[in-house]
This record gives sequence, structure tokens and C-alpha cells, in this order.
Amino acid sequence: MITVVTADKAGSLKIGDNAYQLLQFHFHTPSEEAIHGKRTDMVIHLVHQNSQGELAVVALLLKTGDTTNPFIETLWNVMPKTPGKPEQHDVQIDINRLLPTGKNHYYTFAGSLTTPPCSEGVKWLVLKQMGTISPKQLAQYHEVYTENARPLQPLNGRQVLSSN
Ligand SMILES: [Zn+2]
Repeated sequence: MITVVTADKAGSLKIGDNAYQLLQFHFHTPSEEAIHGKRTDMVIHLVHQNSQGELAVVALLLKTGDTTNPFIETLWNVMPKTPGKPEQHDVQIDINRLLPTGKNHYYTFAGSLTTPPCSEGVKWLVLKQMGTISPKQLAQYHEVYTENARPLQPLNGRQVLSSN
């Protein structure tokens, strides 16, 4: 079960000259990405689409830290208590409050969506700078949602590029 948040005009992304609009974002625990072989506690996937219908996913890894994440707090306050039951809430969220300052530093590779329809041709950007989530916030999430990360996938000769 995946918590998907669809948001209206919550953000946009520019890769080169290509403009993408944020479609939705969702969470996985633990992270589906491993940097130097290590997964983190959670990852947020921000799914974007450009006018040609091409997808780009920004992955923000979260590790547990001492501070409460205010962006997560806003969402968790309205998190459905039953998985799979969509709810509509009127809350103000600003993706820029979530993303780290160093968002121009990322690993990038071509891949697919990790959940059905697992579409190919998706541009992935894994941010190098991680965010934090408090242990309490992580526990709140696990009260409702089970672990849902896909096993690590072999690279199959794909190249992972680093922005710098
Ligand atoms: Zn995902």
C-alpha cells in the first residue's frame, strides 16, 4: 500500500530547458534507493510530467533525526487512518519547504516506475542531500502503513551519473 498525495500546483521542476509539473508524491519505507549500499528509513518520490507526457521522479531520502519535519507534520495531521481510503483535505503545502537547499546535486539515471504500470523511460533524480524525519513521525506512519519498498534492482549496465 502506497500513500499517494496528489496536489494542485504544488511545484514544478526544470531539467535543462524542460519544464515539468508535479503530479503527485508518495512515500516508501525503507527507501528504495541505496547510496553506497545503504538504504534510509524513508524516501519521498515526487512524480513530475512535462508537456510531452514524459515522467521525471525526484527522490528525496529521509533519515531519522532529532528534529520534527514540518512538511511531514502538515501531512501527517491529515493522514488517513485507514490505508487505501482516499481522503480529500484542504491544506497548504509548499514543496520548496521540503526540498533541501542543495537540490542541484543529485544522481541521475534512466529507469522505470517502481510500481505498476512500471513504465520505462522515466528520468530519475536522487538528491544527494537528505531530509530528516523524527522517530515519532516515522512511528506514526508505520501505525498505518506497512513497509512497501521494492527490492534493490540490478543496474543491468545502466549508467548512474552524478551532477557533481
Ligand atoms: Zn515510488
